[in-house]
Amino acid sequence: MASVAGLPTIEEALALVLAHVAPLAAEDVPVGSSSGRVAAEAAVAAVDLPPFPSSAMDGYAVRAADTPAALRITGHSAAGSPAAEALEPGAAIEISTGAVVPDGADAVVPVERTRRDGDTVVVERVSPGENVRPRAGDIRAGDAVVEAGSPLGPPQVGALAAAGVVTVRCGRRPRVAVLATGSELRPPGEPLGPGQIYESNSVLLAAQLAGAGAEPVALPSVADDPAALRAALERGLDCDVLITSGGVSVGPHDLVRAALAELGAEEVFWRVAVKPGKPIAFATRGATLVFGLPGNPVSSLVGFELFVRPALRALQGARDPAPAFLPGRLAAPLLRGPDRDELVRARATDGLLEPVTGQGSHMIARAAAANALVLVPRGDGELAAGASVRFIPI
Ligand code: AMP
Ligand code: MG
Repeated sequence: MASVAGLPTIEEALALVLAHVAPLAAEDVPVGSSSGRVAAEAAVAAVDLPPFPSSAMDGYAVRAADTPAALRITGHSAAGSPAAEALEPGAAIEISTGAVVPDGADAVVPVERTRRDGDTVVVERVSPGENVRPRAGDIRAGDAVVEAGSPLGPPQVGALAAAGVVTVRCGRRPRVAVLATGSELRPPGEPLGPGQIYESNSVLLAAQLAGAGAEPVALPSVADDPAALRAALERGLDCDVLITSGGVSVGPHDLVRAALAELGAEEVFWRVAVKPGKPIAFATRGATLVFGLPGNPVSSLVGFELFVRPALRALQGARDPAPAFLPGRLAAPLLRGPDRDELVRARATDGLLEPVTGQGSHMIARAAAANALVLVPRGDGELAAGASVRFIPI
């Protein structure tokens, strides 16, 4: 086995990648299309939220100090209508959820705690402020709904829309080319000839890219042929990011690194102390980032999560681009590798991580049972069942 002494660790390699990222220009994006993007600047609330004191319940707006009591009903406040006239002492105003709480009222008695008799309502005791959502209790106009560098997902876009924000400044979507290399690769739907396999990494990578804010640029797969490879790489090098699959190891048909060098790409590192995925290469040409992922499908999956996804986040201006590890506990013991950190495919249930059987870097079908990549730090001996670990959800 080749020595791994001197290879960068995952952290060192990630730091090298991020050191080569220059964030892309920002653009205005309609809030409704911004999920999956990154806010390049803070986005501030256009209005107070709620914009007025509003009722949390269907019931009666009252003065808490009047309760309990039989109160005269003097009006009605419905959601979407202007405020009813001010509440007088000893009176109640019928009110619906989301309606303006009238001046003079400081609480709402839910309808379940009332008994109505014509124009009078008998209400139970309420405390001041009960069931009233104060104006700006959620956020004040001018305050940041999201900070610069925040990833935008469902809660963020919902918050922006509620706060009256129409467009949000986001880092431009990186254009990402994916190039699968290998003479053995066949497209789906065709019968396999001798020695052939189905090309799956570009499909896997496209699925990973879909959640990463990227604009994918699909390139046809290419055989292990220097001229064809160079032509295909040249097309990919026009993008913000080029991801290649296969051909970065030490075999006679592993031509990607040499072809990239001929095209002027400067290699930053080749090989990382990680299992699977050790032969990963990272290079740049101008502002283009080039990731040479190893061909084994699980190596490709892992390399993307450890290095490519963080780079895509950083390109879009994310504040914390590193992989988002979650804490968990091992359901079964795991042997540690002496000199490589390992990403073990596992099934996470309630934070308990059960490694899947079949951890070979070619075993993508076994990986289909996994929803987590568990980081097993290099070291001696084993991690016991119950040990605290960190994992990336996949
Ligand atoms: P390589 O990194 O080119 O040496 O490939 C390592 C292993 O991954 C070999 O078994 C290849 O057949 C396989 N492989 C390479 N590219 C792909 C791909 N795009 N889809 C599925 N398997 C691949
Ligand atoms: Mg190959």
